[in-house]
Amino acid sequence: MLNRREFLETITAAAIVPAFAGQDAAKNEWGSPVFDLHFHVRPQPANNLTHLDGAGVTKANLLARAVAVDQVKAVMAEAPGRFTWFSSYDVTRPDAEQVLTQAVKDGAQGYGEMKFHVAADGPEFRRIYALAADLGVPILIHFQEVDHFPNEGTWATGYAKTFDGILKAYPKTTFIGHADAFWANVSADYHNEAAYPSGPIVRGGLTDKWLGDYPNLFADMSANSGNNAMSRDAEFTADFLKRHQDKLLFGSDCSCADGHGGGVSQSNNPAASRMAGKCVARETLGLLKRSASPAVFQKIAWGNAHKLLRIPS
Ligand SMILES: [Zn+2]
Ligand SMILES: [Zn+2]
Repeated sequence: MLNRREFLETITAAAIVPAFAGQDAAKNEWGSPVFDLHFHVRPQPANNLTHLDGAGVTKANLLARAVAVDQVKAVMAEAPGRFTWFSSYDVTRPDAEQVLTQAVKDGAQGYGEMKFHVAADGPEFRRIYALAADLGVPILIHFQEVDHFPNEGTWATGYAKTFDGILKAYPKTTFIGHADAFWANVSADYHNEAAYPSGPIVRGGLTDKWLGDYPNLFADMSANSGNNAMSRDAEFTADFLKRHQDKLLFGSDCSCADGHGGGVSQSNNPAASRMAGKCVARETLGLLKRSASPAVFQKIAWGNAHKLLRIPS
């Protein structure tokens, strides 16, 4: 049962998010349609829909290498209206700007997942930040400073030390933060000790502060990193979801086979063993549902992504 405040929030949210209109919330097990921002395209078209349908996900954003455009088109043709896509390409290559410009001309609605072994404030990434602003598309970045397995290497490094400088230098670029370093830094006591720190959150962490300070920073809640951060401290989580309700985007980054935890959900990542046998989409949707009001849940699971990507309802 909803209390009166929750009921009012629900009807208000439904009125201000046009994409919600026409969707029958009662038919969805989560009480709201769901958009998965972080879904790596699977080679067999049917396997994409198996995960969406299994996890109760309405639509998903396919993350694909620029070379996989035909694969993306095939998946989209199979289920019209259920997919958008982001394109990624090695930022160290000399033709990166050219290839990523072409991707937007081909229909990509953003760049991601951008996961490369270079500094987040280095010249390779900076030219793509500028390009994303010029073309008006968001850029989704994987930040990671701690290996998941020996010699993995780090990705988009320097988040804690340098990224506020980037947010200031590129005010017209829409950044979507993701992965270990982004989420571990919700706690003020984090200094790159572990991929997935545990225990109560120390208030005042960089990611929490920057989401409040910079209108051009958004958060992708996918993967073990997002789920782990939101599982540490229930009181913090409830408050965090409320404060940043317009900046948070549900995503799964789940590679399980069926949307119920079959197969491997966090592949190539032994450090994420807490998700073994579980579907990350289901785990995080359940966690968000327990931690937020229905109106806030609906923004994070559905409304915010539609606004950010300007997807017609
Ligand atoms: Zn990632
Ligand atoms: Zn799954």
